[in-house]
Amino acid sequence: MNLFEQGCGGRGTRTPTGGSPAVFKTAAIPLCDSSDIALDRLLRKAKLGHFSHFCNTYLPHFSDSIMLLRSLCIFMLVFLIGTNCVLAQKKQSSKVPKAIFVLSFDQMRGDFTERFSHNWGSKGFNRIMKEGSSSPLCYFNHISNMTCPGHAIILTGSYPSLNGIVSNDFFDTKLWCTCYCTEDKKHPVNGNSNIGRSPDLLKQSTLGDLLQKQQPKSKGLSFAIKDRAAILMAGKSKANAVLWFDWKSRVFTTSSYYTQPTWIDDVNKSVPYSAYAGKKWNAILADSETAVDSMDVEGNFPGGDFMFPHDLGFPGQEQYTEALMTSPYSISYLFDAVKFAINRESIGKDEFPDIISIGISTTDLAGHLFGPDSREIQELYAHADSILGTFIDHLDAKIGRNNYVMVITSDHGVAPIPEYITKFGKLPVDAGRIQEKTLMETLEKELGKRCGQKENMTWIKYIEPPSIFLNDTTVLSSGFEMSMIADTLCAVLSTIDGIAQAAPTAIIQQGRILPGWSKELLEMYRNDIHPDRTGEVMFMVKPYWLIGSKPASHGTGYDYDTHVPLMFLGGGIPAGQIQGKTDPADIMPTLASILNIKVQHRHGKRLELIKAPLKNKKK
Ligand SMILES: [Zn+2]
Repeated sequence: MNLFEQGCGGRGTRTPTGGSPAVFKTAAIPLCDSSDIALDRLLRKAKLGHFSHFCNTYLPHFSDSIMLLRSLCIFMLVFLIGTNCVLAQKKQSSKVPKAIFVLSFDQMRGDFTERFSHNWGSKGFNRIMKEGSSSPLCYFNHISNMTCPGHAIILTGSYPSLNGIVSNDFFDTKLWCTCYCTEDKKHPVNGNSNIGRSPDLLKQSTLGDLLQKQQPKSKGLSFAIKDRAAILMAGKSKANAVLWFDWKSRVFTTSSYYTQPTWIDDVNKSVPYSAYAGKKWNAILADSETAVDSMDVEGNFPGGDFMFPHDLGFPGQEQYTEALMTSPYSISYLFDAVKFAINRESIGKDEFPDIISIGISTTDLAGHLFGPDSREIQELYAHADSILGTFIDHLDAKIGRNNYVMVITSDHGVAPIPEYITKFGKLPVDAGRIQEKTLMETLEKELGKRCGQKENMTWIKYIEPPSIFLNDTTVLSSGFEMSMIADTLCAVLSTIDGIAQAAPTAIIQQGRILPGWSKELLEMYRNDIHPDRTGEVMFMVKPYWLIGSKPASHGTGYDYDTHVPLMFLGGGIPAGQIQGKTDPADIMPTLASILNIKVQHRHGKRLELIKAPLKNKKK
């Protein structure tokens, strides 16, 4: 009889979390792989490329070549960290650009560049793909593909195990709080001590931090609709101008952590929130080139309409702010503010390189609502492409293409709406969603049955996928070992429809390949473990399963969540395609190399964007 059949019996017979692996071998406790087909085999079976036979939906795949490349990446990671190697010290080019622009289109999945290319003109994304250097195989190498971790990875070059940003919200066992990733009550926003923001929870320096340490006259600008995108790409330097849209005051704002830009009032006057009053978001693409408008599985536009044109309403009306931020007008709003700041800060005008990061959050807000297969997303990216084209023209004229480097990427991808692929897919797919409240109640009930239930005590303290924190007070008072409760929790998770696998964090940390797991999957989990911020159990849903009620979402290790664009333009970088698999964590060491900045202890590697001249071989 195994533990699951006997409940929490065998009190005191198990080793604590982190104990000997041998105990787990003899205890006949499966490591919680709930799938009949092991995940790795399941993913290998799904070698259908980027698109399935139905609905343009994205299927996860790990091709053999990608598996090989992942192995190479792991080798590189070990090499980089183990030897404190500083590959990034090598110069990519003798000429240091005057400005670096890093643009993150929130929730822009890697296949969108190919899928929507025919809707775009020649001046935006297509120009970068033609005139710049791009990687069609850029994948995050972790499970927690959410906005906070994604933006922290892009410019620290590290995963949550090093940079500490394990999710959007997380429990910190040292601070003993449930923290939003940029929360900091010590640094109020607009004098409101209830809302504070800073990069205090970020545990690594960003590229901008290192640059300003080396070149104090270099400037840092970071703009986004979401505070988390602006703050986590900027980093810890207080000299940065870091602005985001504040939904309460309805202006671009900052917190007391940062130096207040002298032009902050001017930018809000120059680019007023009310400028879009009464505007409509009209469809601009031909019906024949787009997805069908208004599928019933999609959400409604703020204000309630569900077909083009979408009405923004007026300031003062309840839906106006959300409607503006979900429409392409907010991309214009953001870029107009960025251009204003570039001008006022004289970006790219002296020999000290500046770093500008831009978080285009609109694509995520609309993406959650309408899903990646919607007409709205296709239309939104057509607008984004046009605005990007104008921005490139602006930089070419003001700074000069060879004097700046632009990077385009994203913080994560997105899964198709589960109901969309089950309803409209040509092939049957196991897809669904798990509600957070139901999950919590089920886990409590089942743990209560197996391990006992006390009034006013819960077994689970906190769930933030991929991590679950157990309530140590309850565990302590129960007399059971923490490892036993973690095992039991894994067993309970394995019985829930839609859960692919779960395992005790301590076992994952030991680096053991668990039954049914690939070493690539193990590596992804390990990249998300931070000792202060990861619970006792980690888990992931099955492919095409979501947790929560947003129509579309992200937050798994499947390709539709990990695959993002990666493009470089300008700075003398030659046109071409980057060979092999890349990682958004590579952006930071690559840019550091271009800026001649020494980098240590990062997961990312320097990408070869500029080929060195061939040397004569010695005979
Ligand atoms: Zn995001």
